[in-house]
Amino acid sequence: MSSDSSLSPIPPHLQAPAAESVGEAASPLTSQSNVEVHEALQAPENGVSAEAPIKGAKVGKKRKADTSPKAKVTKRARKVTVKEETVATVASAPPPAKPKAAKPKKAACKVKIEQETADNNLAHEPGEADSPVATKSKKTRKKKDEIIPPLAERTTGSKLRVGAHVSAAGGIHNAIGNLLHIGANAFALFMKSQRTWKNPELNPEHATLFIDGCKNHQVEVADCCVPHGSYLVNLAHPDEERKKQAYDSFLDDLTRCHKTGIKYYNFHPGNSAATTRDAGIKRIAEAINQAHKDPSTGTVMPLLETMATLGNTIGGQFQDIADIIKQVEDKERIGVCLDTCHVFAAGYDLRTPKAYERTMREFDETIGLNYLKALHVNDSKAPLYSFRDLHARIGTGYLGLRAFHNLVNDKRLHGLPMVLETPIDTKDENGKKIEDKSIWAREIKMLEQLVDMDIESDQFKKWEADLFEEGTGERERIGEQVKKRAEKDAKPKKKKGKMKAETDDEDETEED
Ligand SMILES: [Zn+2]
Ligand SMILES: [Zn+2]
Repeated sequence: MSSDSSLSPIPPHLQAPAAESVGEAASPLTSQSNVEVHEALQAPENGVSAEAPIKGAKVGKKRKADTSPKAKVTKRARKVTVKEETVATVASAPPPAKPKAAKPKKAACKVKIEQETADNNLAHEPGEADSPVATKSKKTRKKKDEIIPPLAERTTGSKLRVGAHVSAAGGIHNAIGNLLHIGANAFALFMKSQRTWKNPELNPEHATLFIDGCKNHQVEVADCCVPHGSYLVNLAHPDEERKKQAYDSFLDDLTRCHKTGIKYYNFHPGNSAATTRDAGIKRIAEAINQAHKDPSTGTVMPLLETMATLGNTIGGQFQDIADIIKQVEDKERIGVCLDTCHVFAAGYDLRTPKAYERTMREFDETIGLNYLKALHVNDSKAPLYSFRDLHARIGTGYLGLRAFHNLVNDKRLHGLPMVLETPIDTKDENGKKIEDKSIWAREIKMLEQLVDMDIESDQFKKWEADLFEEGTGERERIGEQVKKRAEKDAKPKKKKGKMKAETDDEDETEED
């Protein structure tokens, strides 16, 4: 497993934009106001490079003449001042791993960042921006190329590869700085803007910086990186034109992975709207077969993600995934990414050791554990059989901390990339949405420490109780919604599964 024994300094060219807009990460955009930040995980200096990582880099053919960060910002969003003040709190947050070396100085806990930023998440999409829009620090730092200390150091010797879906705003190379920042040993990213159909050329400079960044920081990209496919892509679509559009984007992403040394590529299987499940499954398998035969994809392995919903969504049942794999010709180049939140919402329990084993056995018998290549590690704001895709922070949802204790102590999963997509959005003192990446840094350390931890220990019990408490409001709120929906569904004689799954539109953005 790759790991740095020391705090790896993040070179300026890999430094990440500090405050991406909410929506960049692959977590549902649910606001959670009670941020709890353990002081030991505070960055002494949550600074932002004053320098654009890449100067004059070109992305995409269709760029307009004036693409300077400033022009872009003013065009797309108003100038906003973000003040991110981190507060040293809090009792309920689990502490990080026993600090090994350079522990962040508590005295420097208070951080202020003032910067121009766009509050429009599109302004930050990878492949769209070639310099870190909105990250020009206005505060003078000691030096221009000052090194940003990570929020947490990467753990050495852990049995897990754990990380998060990090931002690649400004180019994929920025993901490296972002993963180092939170002490991650695994990561996901979008290979390009995930909300448009554009397939701009992969910027060769970004690709080189990405490859070099991985090498220089011992990021074993083939084993620990699992990009996430575009939400728009639906390989099951029956319409020829839409199908081609989806396939082109899919193929383009696989090509990008191949060019950058990435082995896995995770995507949502698709939605069989306007057609049958079997026809949808057939189309997905055909697209995968076709992509496998295209030399531009090298040996990249597409991973089918388990989904939370039923109805037209393919992937809500293990059988869906198994049926796709059956029709994939090259079985060496197809895998599965299990999302803990999704499978739980879809009715696969993970909460007790027994339930966990039952679910994994079912996975093995239906799909085959040999196909399991990656995990999305998320708690769920919605209960079992709710068929709702609402991620919660680890330990705060209906899964609870024990489910994750089961997961990380399953030796079969050790070494597989585990990617957090938990919500890290919170609000600053002005009520503006900001992201708090120390939540991921904290969750990574906690998951690592859950390995071999006694659930009867005081530490475990404290974490469990505190996190349960932290999530109570959201669990109750969503639980109530789910109950009402079930009551509503019980009345008319509509087809249950289908309606339940496809008409969720209450208030949350449900995707990932
Ligand atoms: Zn999700
Ligand atoms: Zn997903």
